[in-house]
Amino acid sequence: MATLGNPKNTIEILNKYGFNFKKCFGQNFLIDTHVLEKIIRSANVTKDDMVLEIGPGIGTMTQYLCENAREVVAVEIDKNLIPILEGDTLAEYDNIMVINEDILKVDIAKIAKERNGGKPIKVVANLPYYITTPIIMGLFENEVPIESITVMVQKEVADRMQTGPGSKDYGALSLAVQYYAEPYIVANVPPNCFMPRPNVGSAVIRLTLHKQPPVDVVDQKLMFKIIRASFNQRRKTLQNGLNNAPDLHFSKEIILQAIENIGKPATVRGEALTLEEFAALTNELVALTK
Ligand code: SAM
Repeated sequence: MATLGNPKNTIEILNKYGFNFKKCFGQNFLIDTHVLEKIIRSANVTKDDMVLEIGPGIGTMTQYLCENAREVVAVEIDKNLIPILEGDTLAEYDNIMVINEDILKVDIAKIAKERNGGKPIKVVANLPYYITTPIIMGLFENEVPIESITVMVQKEVADRMQTGPGSKDYGALSLAVQYYAEPYIVANVPPNCFMPRPNVGSAVIRLTLHKQPPVDVVDQKLMFKIIRASFNQRRKTLQNGLNNAPDLHFSKEIILQAIENIGKPATVRGEALTLEEFAALTNELVALTK
C-alpha cells in the first residue's frame, strides 16, 4: 500500500535510516497525497503501461506508480537511497526495477525496447530541478518511444515550456516543447507540499508527444542549432546571431537572403520568430546552399 504521501511516514523512514538531504541532487520529497494522486491521474497510468520514474527519492511516488502501472523502472543517482527503496519502501512490489545511475547516462531507448517491446512508455517524475532542461531535451532528442511525460518542474520552467514569441520566457525550450509535444499545466504546487520546502514555486506539466511534428522541416537538427544560436545571443539580430554561431557555417549574404525569403526584415531578432518561421528559415538556408 502507498504510505509515504503521509508526512509522518516519510519522517519515520528518514529517521530510521538517518538520511540527510543532498541539495546538490535537488532532493525535495513530496509529502502531499492530493498532489501525488493528481499526478498519477493526469498521467493516466494504467496496468498496460511501463513507466519510467526519474529520481524516486525514498519511493513516495514510486509506490503509487507500482500500484497503477504494469511495470516501473526508477532511476536514482543517490546510492544512499537504494537500500531504502529495495529493502524497505518498495520491497512489497514485484513490478519495480531500481537502477542506481545518473539519468543522463542511461540508455532509455534500450530499456523501452527490452522491457516494453519498443512500445511508447510514460515518464512520470518529480524532477531534480537543476537538470530539468537536459533531462527533457534528452527524452525528446534520443528517439526514446514516449507517449507522455508528466513531471513536476519549477513553475518558471513550466511557463517557459508553453509560451510563444513576445514573452520574456520564450526560448529554445519553448520551441522544443512545441515541436515535440502538446503541453498542459496540470497544477501549481506550493513549497509546503515538499520536504524540505524548495524556495521556488512548482508546477506539474504534462507533455503529450506528437505523433507527427507540427511543421515540415528538411533538417531538424539544423533547425535546433539555428534556434539555439538565435537565443544564445538574444539581444543581437537574428542575422548576427547566426553569423556568430561557431557550429553554423552560412555566409552573411546567404543568411540575409534566407531571412528576406521568409518575409522578415534584416533587423529581426530570433525571439520574434514562431516555430513555423524557424522551420521555414531552415528550409530556405538548406535550399540556398544546395
Ligand atoms: N520522487 C521523489 C519524490 O517525489 O518525493 C523525489 C523527488 S526529488 C525532487 C529528485 C530526485 O532525483 C532525488 O531523489 C534525487 O536524488 C534524484 N536525482 C537527482 N539527480 C539525478 C540524476 N542525475 N539521475 C537520477 N536521479 C537523480
